[in-house]
Amino acid sequence: MSIFDQAVVSLMPLVPKAIVGHVARPYIAGDTLDDGLAAVRTLMAEGCRGTMDVLGEEVTRTEETVAFTELYMQTLDRIQSEGIDANISIKLTALGLNIDPELCERNVRRIMDRAVERSSYVRIDMEDSSTTDETLELYRRLRERYDNVGVVLQSMLRRSLDDIRSLLSLKVNVRVCKGIYVEPAEIAYKNKQQVRDNFVAMVELLLQNDCHVGIATHDRHLVERSYELIRRLGLGPEAYEFQVLLGVLPGLRREIVAAGHRLRVYVPFGEAWYAYSTRRLKENPAVAGHVMKAMFSSKK
Ligand code: FAD
Repeated sequence: MSIFDQAVVSLMPLVPKAIVGHVARPYIAGDTLDDGLAAVRTLMAEGCRGTMDVLGEEVTRTEETVAFTELYMQTLDRIQSEGIDANISIKLTALGLNIDPELCERNVRRIMDRAVERSSYVRIDMEDSSTTDETLELYRRLRERYDNVGVVLQSMLRRSLDDIRSLLSLKVNVRVCKGIYVEPAEIAYKNKQQVRDNFVAMVELLLQNDCHVGIATHDRHLVERSYELIRRLGLGPEAYEFQVLLGVLPGLRREIVAAGHRLRVYVPFGEAWYAYSTRRLKENPAVAGHVMKAMFSSKK
């Protein structure tokens, strides 16, 4: 990150909310479930499917976790009743992991039961490394009862290939991504190429063992290497899917679909859009630079 980029990122907390909202607009479907469903409908017209995420992390009150649970259940109802091609992505901290793991598990099981009733699928997002063990333990317990649940592993973490090996017998369904959280060097690769190589090794190990993979990246290098892998292993389109975030490199998304691959777009919606947006903007200083420009050129 250049000094300018670092400066931009450190100034983010001072940027007025309205400006963050303006620049973050392409990355968020909107405040409401209706907004989320409308965004997926638009993507469906482009040949994509969705995974819907109710924005919110690190809640502190039980009532908030129950409200998230209910909104997710409503989301599953509407996905089915309106014929939307989407599943849901959940974050355990939004469902109470840091308040009380048992509360979290109760909430997740309510969502899972509804997903079964609605013939849908639930992906558990992976959060920072303090939650990895608990997330994978809960995932294993859920798999004793449910098949319609998948998890996420991050290629920046040194442990991830071992995690895959320990999950292979479950015919695990994994979204592989680089990982968004800043982690210490003892547990995480810091070199960009190592993170990429580990990503490809993870995808390969899963595909070779007949595990469905969500290849979640906008890194063209990784998309190309995944294409090669898919060709080499002779896989049909049902064995994997590419996954991207709403608003990020839509041109790449269209190329992947045009090349005949399945593609799922992560569609965040909800009132907690501001926290999500500032996190995304901090990740990508080039975009944060646009926030600054918008701030200095805006007419107040
Ligand atoms: P990068 O090299 O970071 O990006 C490649 C290019 O894509 C960049 O040059 C830039 O042009 C563009 N780009 C990438 N990200 C952004 C952005 N946010 N805004 C604007 N442009 C961008 N991480 C987790 O830790 N846990 C999860 O559960 C998780 N789920 C994810 C689900 C999906 C569908 C996707 C696509 C990502 C998810 N991530 C998750 C985030 C992921 O770990 C990476 O942080 C993120 O995808 C950036 O890595 P990249 O592979 O796209 O490569």
